[in-house]
Amino acid sequence: MLLRSRFEFSAAHQLTRHPGACRRMHGHNYQLEVSVGGPVDRDTGMVMDFFELERLVRDRVLQPLDHVCLNEVIEYPTAENIARWSWRQLAPVLTGLAEIAVYEMPTCAVIYRGEDER
Ligand SMILES: [Zn+2]
Repeated sequence: MLLRSRFEFSAAHQLTRHPGACRRMHGHNYQLEVSVGGPVDRDTGMVMDFFELERLVRDRVLQPLDHVCLNEVIEYPTAENIARWSWRQLAPVLTGLAEIAVYEMPTCAVIYRGEDER
């Protein structure tokens, strides 16, 4: 079963190689969805405790990224590179990490399932 939690953070970035408006320094209210796959534990009836997932995401992803200039943390911080960075922050501590979605605005997201890690 898949379990999914949604988070929000606000941050600035500047994409100097982008031909459009993202070339200038600006901010986004990002949404981050983290999905974990695994069996439902017979005793707890859960794949994972939502509070434990929230703690890991806050410590490893939100705390470093919220209200910062992303260029100082992630090389060329497109939504794609934010998703890959977030995966690498979480994968070592989050068994069953299945998918990370980064929404740069409510209608636009990238989905990363660890394709570049294999
Ligand atoms: Zn932007």
